[in-house]
Amino acid sequence: MISHNLQRVIAQIDAACASSGRSATDVALLAVSKTQGPLAVREAFAAGQGAFGENYVQEGVEKILSLADLRAQVQWHMIGPVQSNKTRQVAEHFDWVHTVDRFKIAQRLSEQRPSHLPPLQVCIQVNVDGGINKSGVAPQDALTLAREVAALQRITLRGLMSIPEGTIDFIAAYARHSSAKALFDHIKMAQIGGHAQWDTLSMGMSADLDAAVAAGSTVLRVGTAIFGARVR
Ligand SMILES: *Cc1c(COP(=O)(O)O)cnc(C)c1O
Repeated sequence: MISHNLQRVIAQIDAACASSGRSATDVALLAVSKTQGPLAVREAFAAGQGAFGENYVQEGVEKILSLADLRAQVQWHMIGPVQSNKTRQVAEHFDWVHTVDRFKIAQRLSEQRPSHLPPLQVCIQVNVDGGINKSGVAPQDALTLAREVAALQRITLRGLMSIPEGTIDFIAAYARHSSAKALFDHIKMAQIGGHAQWDTLSMGMSADLDAAVAAGSTVLRVGTAIFGARVR
């Protein structure tokens, strides 16, 4: 089931890349395993999937620890909100964090990243459509935050992440993803220096991945299309 779904999602990504003139090797698939048990992750791993995304720190850490035998072969990405009191767990267990939207959080992650691990790979979450209740830095503040985060020692700043307002309409989804891509390009042009390797634009989920690929996404975060409906 999971292996079949994965094949279907990969075929859909390949088709989306082909129709927008992009190379399939430029778009990575992050399997969002929140609420799924370790067995589902094992099944996806056995089917060739190597990168997994988690939304909740406690659940993610438990899963990472229960899959310790796979640790060297799997990348774990934090894609949910990170509160100050959870930064240590994130810094100690995850490879990536997509959801940094405040300097204070980045600073704690950098300070708490253990020295035996490589730098934490970080994306800045941007609130492209200005939803007042949503996480993410305002687009006009993203460049300043990027410069500050890139100066931190134990972080490699990789790019932007966005979660636009849900929509099934391709044109509307494309427009929202395109504004994130424009901001991504703007910051790239600014050459922020520091510990930045500005190559990642994390956007697109099960329902809008075609539009995200067309707009320039480099990481698709896909849950339900791979694992089926979530249990909670
Ligand atoms: C749950 C989640 C996803 C995956 O959503 P699906 O619709 O299940 O593909 C992607 N990104 C974030 C931030 C999520 O919380």
